[in-house]
Amino acid sequence: MNYISTRGQMAPMGFQDAVMTGLAPDGGLLLPETLPNVSDQLDRWKDLSYTELAYELMRLFATDIPAEELRQLINDSYATFEHPEVVPSVKVGDLYILELFHGPTLAFKDVALQFLGNLFAYILERRGGKLNILGATSGDTGSAAIHGVRGKPNINIFVMHPAGRTSPLQEKQMTSVLDPNVFNLAVDGTFDDCQSIMKTTFADVPFKTEHSLGSVNSVNWARVLAQTVYYFYSAFRVMKETGAESVQFSVPTGNFGDILAGYLAQRMGLPIRKLILATNENDILSRFFNSGVYGKADVVPTISPSMDIQVASNFERYLYYLVGQDAARLSSMMSGFAELGELAVELNADGQVDDLFAAGRGDTENTLAVIKRYHAEHGYVLDPHTAVGVFVAEELASSDAPTICLATAHPAKFTQAIVDAIGEEVHHPTLDALADAPTRCDSIENDVDAVKQYLVKHI
Ligand SMILES: *Cc1c(COP(=O)(O)O)cnc(C)c1O
Repeated sequence: MNYISTRGQMAPMGFQDAVMTGLAPDGGLLLPETLPNVSDQLDRWKDLSYTELAYELMRLFATDIPAEELRQLINDSYATFEHPEVVPSVKVGDLYILELFHGPTLAFKDVALQFLGNLFAYILERRGGKLNILGATSGDTGSAAIHGVRGKPNINIFVMHPAGRTSPLQEKQMTSVLDPNVFNLAVDGTFDDCQSIMKTTFADVPFKTEHSLGSVNSVNWARVLAQTVYYFYSAFRVMKETGAESVQFSVPTGNFGDILAGYLAQRMGLPIRKLILATNENDILSRFFNSGVYGKADVVPTISPSMDIQVASNFERYLYYLVGQDAARLSSMMSGFAELGELAVELNADGQVDDLFAAGRGDTENTLAVIKRYHAEHGYVLDPHTAVGVFVAEELASSDAPTICLATAHPAKFTQAIVDAIGEEVHHPTLDALADAPTRCDSIENDVDAVKQYLVKHI
């Protein structure tokens, strides 16, 4: 399987190169040249375990990794999950909750980053070379990246966070990782300062090349691929239990990464009746699906912080399919967007962008009310991101297929919102154990040169 760029200006490359490249050199995102149709495999796949299913799917895309080695990578990646099913689907009221939070950092990003970390280590070992990952986090995503590569040979990871501005729990999830290849940097500044240091450092191409700098951002193809697996797995479980012939998914969305995987699963032949896209107040994506206009607004901080995003980095992949895989047209839309902060597509005869999608928004008040009601009625505590998806599912789900809501984090990660909603804390042993854990973190000035010097010294 070869990979091409959505902007059409890149020679096709194999899977391993695609993983190491991340973002295409022409500014586009990588996609497989053709998406396999797996409709006639579904019957054979429906009773497989999570890792067996992951292998069957991934081998169609990772064709330059030998079978047994791919199997091993997958087994290693999901052995770190605490649930025997890896990602169980739990019936709560009328809905199924797909719990994606049984990995090491209790968030769905582990599903992709545990795999990506192993994949990087595998490729570097065979090709030779080193990778020094530089990242910036406001709290939530940094720890999944750190846990994905901790202790891996030939890889170092440097994660900047704004000193004193991440939640103490999230900071601890990062700084309690003591492996010698993990470096936490508390920057004397804001999250935007951290991001700007990262961008400036990456823009210094000679420095980037000399020190083999890379990132683990959400546009890496391997992350999207790893996420397609749970759509299949959960659909099979729920169809078996209910006897239904299709399902619908509700997905709390920020960067469009998670829901893109569902879209690709549908295009490959999984019977998905609807994809319900749920945003918080940062609603660029729900506005798009309801109006055809994709227009930037300011980011508003909410109680579902991992969805506080205005420009969705994976959206371009969807748009590419929407415009009929026309790379030239897509490129001109994206450059228009870069210039004007807005792009638009035509609506279909039903006044929709895409009949597969239904999109809505859950504000803070709705989110807290849903958490409270699910706790009272079902004894189940939703995290604030998941609650946005549940709220929108209740509004928009069609009645003719079972609804699966993706649960993207364990509620214990978001203590304050949970206390505000239900008046008590929720605990998880992994997080409780952090209270007395030793930590390692270096403080650093809000200055690009200081960070570069730190990198040089520690690489
Ligand atoms: C990252 C994240 C999301 C959003 O996922 P996208 O792929 O960016 O749409 C939702 N919930 C949680 C808890 C997350 O960490």
